[in-house]
This record gives sequence, structure tokens and C-alpha cells, in this order.
Amino acid sequence: MKYELICGIETHIELSTKTKAFCGCANSFGDTPNTHVCPICLGHPGVLPKLNKKVLEYAILAGLATNCRIESTIGFDRKNYFYRDLPKGYQITQNHFPICKNGYIELSSGKKIRINHIHIEEDAAKLLYDNEKNILIDYNRSGVPLIEVVSEPDLRTLSEIKEYLEKLRHIMRYIGVSDCKMQEGSMRCDVNVSVRKVGENQLNMKTELKNINSISHIVKAVEYEFKRQVELLKEGKEILRETRFYNENSKKTEVMRRKEDQKEYKYFKEPDIPMIKIEKSEIERLFKTLPEMPDKKLKRYVEEYNLTEMQAYTLVKYRKVAECFEEVSKDVKNKSKVANFIINEIFESLDTQSDKQNFKLPINEESLNKLMLLMDEKRITTSFAKEIYRTMVENNKDLNQIFDEKKQTMIDKKEIEKICKEVIKNNKKAVEDYNFGKKKAINILIEEVMKRTNKSFEGEEILKILEKVISYSEKDHR
Ligand code: ZN
Ligand code: MN
Repeated sequence: MKYELICGIETHIELSTKTKAFCGCANSFGDTPNTHVCPICLGHPGVLPKLNKKVLEYAILAGLATNCRIESTIGFDRKNYFYRDLPKGYQITQNHFPICKNGYIELSSGKKIRINHIHIEEDAAKLLYDNEKNILIDYNRSGVPLIEVVSEPDLRTLSEIKEYLEKLRHIMRYIGVSDCKMQEGSMRCDVNVSVRKVGENQLNMKTELKNINSISHIVKAVEYEFKRQVELLKEGKEILRETRFYNENSKKTEVMRRKEDQKEYKYFKEPDIPMIKIEKSEIERLFKTLPEMPDKKLKRYVEEYNLTEMQAYTLVKYRKVAECFEEVSKDVKNKSKVANFIINEIFESLDTQSDKQNFKLPINEESLNKLMLLMDEKRITTSFAKEIYRTMVENNKDLNQIFDEKKQTMIDKKEIEKICKEVIKNNKKAVEDYNFGKKKAINILIEEVMKRTNKSFEGEEILKILEKVISYSEKDHR
């Protein structure tokens, strides 16, 4: 009997707005605990929440980027529970009228993972444990805006889970609404897992996996959980509704809460925030500000720019790198050369994720574009372009100045034929070998020409000229 995996994921994504969702406190990670707090986010009685407009904008952008319908009327609800991370006793969230509905993320196979909805909510405080097992509470996170992206149970394999989460994270980073750092908690997933016999239609009891801090650990946890549930079914045992966590040491999922501990939230309408109308014009305005999505960009780079998948993938991965590439390769015919230049000469030297994420050219884009055009028109070789680029970075001089200085040592195009003829004359043996079919012998000539032209010409160009000159002199002899 074969079993299949049924998985749906609820992803909490912290929005990188400057201030919190319902008060003016700074939304910042890693600061001294309890320094960004006020009566509103500490939940004092009698205070009124005021919705941060940026939160709405970011949530709409997230919805548009994941093919959702943006609702025209939205509302907020209170999710009631008592816990030390939630001083006011309820979380403001959206239960009845969420902001986005019916979206999807398309996987590389073409399969669409449906998104049931996206809602806005506030984060709770962060709990820390010290060495004496005291619980410390940092209210800096209390009231930080989140969106929760709720997928349908459409995920069937581990690789689909991995791709879905990577795409979701990529999209959110691209549109700039979150940094989605799982290790810092700005992206957190609740993963619902159940199994069923292949061919059946009903959904069986699911378990929920929580607090897993990387995509690779999520994949491992689901793999374990799938096997565990299949075993139970084969033994005729019942799968209990429970919340489980992943133990990285034992590589097993373990029980956190059982069904009897499941909370009853008793949602009700948040009376302090009125229903909000979202104008069509506002949605259209935001839609226009969206960047080209990574999938589309990748396809365009391969089809229109003739880049390899690998080149395109490297450039598209970070939005700022892709945008720099587009500026720098403007009007350049051979885009692949520019791609290689940026990847090998600049991108490869970056070490950290954040350097790549916040990619910035060390010189201005126009200058590098000019340099790339010179390279494209074959007025300079790639290695000469690299030399000029390095001089620009080191000496902070502008392109024209460096180019003028270096150009004096460069050879004019008309002159190269003369040099080729001379080299042919001085290397009769190599020419003879070449004429007798030892094609490799021409490399000696190419090297000689390169030496005498200060690397101003590419090898393939020299080869063309040499071949032309040699075939002419052949004719003379006949
Ligand atoms: Zn506050
Ligand atoms: Mn939630």
C-alpha cells in the first residue's frame, strides 16, 4: 500500500516597516531589550491602536506578488489567549475579513501551490531563557507587524515544500517587504502534515510542526513526520492531533502540545479599529511599483539576453545584483560578457549574505556601462577592461582619465594587420607547420601578436586577421 504526503504551510513573515503595526515605536531587530515600547504595545488598558499605513501597503504588495485578489473591505479581530508574551490578553489579527485571498505560487514544474489567504497580525513579545532557566521577556517584538501566508494543503513532496518556501522567501525579499531571516525569526513556519493512501480523497488527522528555524530542517522534520504517521497507520494506530517540534539532535519530531491543550481563541471583532475600504486606484498604484518577479526575469535573461541558466540564476537571485546588471549592460549586444564580468569580477568577491542582499557597485553604474560598451565594441579586451575597472576602484579616477592614460599604450586597429604580417614573417616555421595542417601552431603567432599589442585585442580577433593574412600570402605563392 502506498501513502502520500499532504502538507500545507502557514508562514509568518515580519514586515520591515520602520515602526510597529499599531503604535509609533521603532520596529528593529537586535536592539537592547525593552527599549522600543509604549503603553500601546505593552497592552496598557484604555489605549487605542492606530494602524500603520505602511503595513497595509506591504500586505497588498505581498498579495499582488503572489497572485492574490486584494479585498475591497478588510477588518481586524481579536484572538484571545493568556500567555506571558501577550500582555493585553489578545492578539490583533484578521480572522473574518483578511486582506488577500485566492493566490498561488507556481513551482518550476508548472504546478501551482494555492494560497488560501494572507492576513495581517501583530507579533507577540519574544521570550528568552537565561542559564538559571529564568524566562526573560523582550517587548521590542510586541506589536511588530506580520503577514501570515496560508497555503492550501497542496504540497505532496519534500522538494515541493523546499521550492515553495524558497520561492515565497525570494518573492518577499524581492518586493522588499521583509528580510525573511529564518534564523532571526522574521520568517516562521507552521507546517501541517498528514498522510493518506494514494487514491483516497479525504484528509486524515494532521499534526502541526512548529518553531523550525531553517528550510532544510523543515524538510527533514516533514520527512520524519511522514514516516512516523505511515508507520502508525500500518500498525492500525490512531494519529493524534498534536503540535510537535523538531529535535535537531535526535532528528525526530516530538510532542509539544496535545489536542486537549489546544487553545480556544474565541475570535471577535476588534472594536477599536473600524472596517477599512481599499480603493482600486490604490491597488493599481502599488501594482505599478512592483519589480519584475524573479521567475520572469530569469526567463527573459535566458531567452532575450542569451545567458546560460547558471548566469541568469546567479544574477536574478539578488534583486540589486540583477538591477545593476541591467543598468551596466544597457545597449551592450553581448550581454553574456557583462554577466561574466559582474559575476566573476565583482559578485564572487562578496562573502556575506547581507553584502549580496545589499549589493552596491564600488564605482558608478554609468562608468561601468561605458567600459562594457568599449569591451562590447571590441575596442578593448576583457582582460584590459578588468585592468581598467580595478584601477577605477583603487584610484577612484574616472573612466575617461584612466582610458586616456592607458590608451597611449594601445594599438590602433589598422596597425594590427601590419604587426600580424611582421610576426608571420619572423615565424616562418610556425606558419609552415600551420599550412601543413598543424593548426595549433598558430597559437605561437597569436601569443606573439598579443605581446606586441599590449593585450588590446582578443585572441579570436587576432586569429581571424592572421588567417586572412596567411591565406593571402598562400595565393601569392601560387
Ligand atoms: Zn509601542
Ligand atoms: Mn498567526
